[in-house]
Amino acid sequence: MIHTEPVFRQNYKFVDSRDLAEYVRAETSTNHQSYRLRTLLSGISPGPDKVMSALSGKVQTVLGLVDPGQLGRTMTHEHLTMTFECCYFPPSPADKAVSEAPIEMKNLFWLKQNPYSSPENLLLCQELEAVKEELLFYRRAGGGTIVENTTTGISRDIKTLKRLAKETGVHIVAGAGFYVDVTHSNETRKMTVEKLTDIIVSEVLHGADGTDIKCGVIGEIGTSWPITDSEQKVLKATAHAQAQLGCPVIIHPGRNSAAPAAVVRILQEAGGDIGKTVMSHLDRTIFDNGELLEFAKMGSYLEYDLFGTEILNYPYNLEVDMPSDSQRVRNLAFLVAEGYEDRIVIAHDVHTKNRLTKYGGHGYSHILNNIVPKMLTRGISQSQVDKILIDNPRHWLTFK
Ligand SMILES: [Zn+2]
Repeated sequence: MIHTEPVFRQNYKFVDSRDLAEYVRAETSTNHQSYRLRTLLSGISPGPDKVMSALSGKVQTVLGLVDPGQLGRTMTHEHLTMTFECCYFPPSPADKAVSEAPIEMKNLFWLKQNPYSSPENLLLCQELEAVKEELLFYRRAGGGTIVENTTTGISRDIKTLKRLAKETGVHIVAGAGFYVDVTHSNETRKMTVEKLTDIIVSEVLHGADGTDIKCGVIGEIGTSWPITDSEQKVLKATAHAQAQLGCPVIIHPGRNSAAPAAVVRILQEAGGDIGKTVMSHLDRTIFDNGELLEFAKMGSYLEYDLFGTEILNYPYNLEVDMPSDSQRVRNLAFLVAEGYEDRIVIAHDVHTKNRLTKYGGHGYSHILNNIVPKMLTRGISQSQVDKILIDNPRHWLTFK
């Protein structure tokens, strides 16, 4: 085995894991296996183990496997095409007219304060041309990669992601798995943990949504607060799939400061790899520094991913004081000072139309253009910025 492995790798060039899986399957079914192949296959089971070794040390984008060194600056939590109708928040009667009006300049501030009360605003999927332009702008601003976290329930469109990656040159990593409970279908709710695991594994190894385009990360896996039964099953399936694949995971926690730790405990008990898991949305979830440090000790990546969002009355939890970008940067500086510079990742989580520059929003380049200079004036060094934008995402996204 030790001897045959390099021979195998030298002689056959596999574009991605599916090629390898298909190759092994095809070759094992022929009557005339070569001596080399017989040697290779004796004592090993062709299938998942070999496929996994093809993924190991690589990052899986919608265009195939890439070397982690190619990623460059990476936003670890964005959406390029999705729908968010699941989370529509009815406006007050006084706002009904404006909520139904087309998006125009004079409504932009209202929209910024009430993004979830305009049905039109929830259809990011209608803005592909604007998103493409933004991705080209992102590249010019020095961006390399975007993790596109749209999962089942909020209209993942993996074919479009592939097209956008081809047309813009931005590496795009797609997400496997399921969003929050309100988006689970009855069929999903009835599934066993084993069935859910199979689906997630297949989205990574073979492709999602009936295509051969593969996901490179599990998540964002959606959870509510309290965590529902169906979400608990999905979390267990996520951990099982991660244990099999050695892949990155990203979690959307419920809006309660106890939610991130509760999710981590479920993943841990089910065999998940917390060191390879991102906890998203900390900016709207944990507000107390002591609590933040307690959570940080659990070992996940810590994600501040609502850069650019300032909203006074956060409809999903009125208790939340959404931080400003200055306060977010202060949180990053605090975590850096506490020794967590290897665990921080950041993003904008664009998920509605008004976040795009076309509608007066911050777009995908706000962090590179505005937040990085601010970080540098707040005690975060250039090499720490590079860790947050390049090294940490690269380590997280690389398959074990
Ligand atoms: Zn998201």
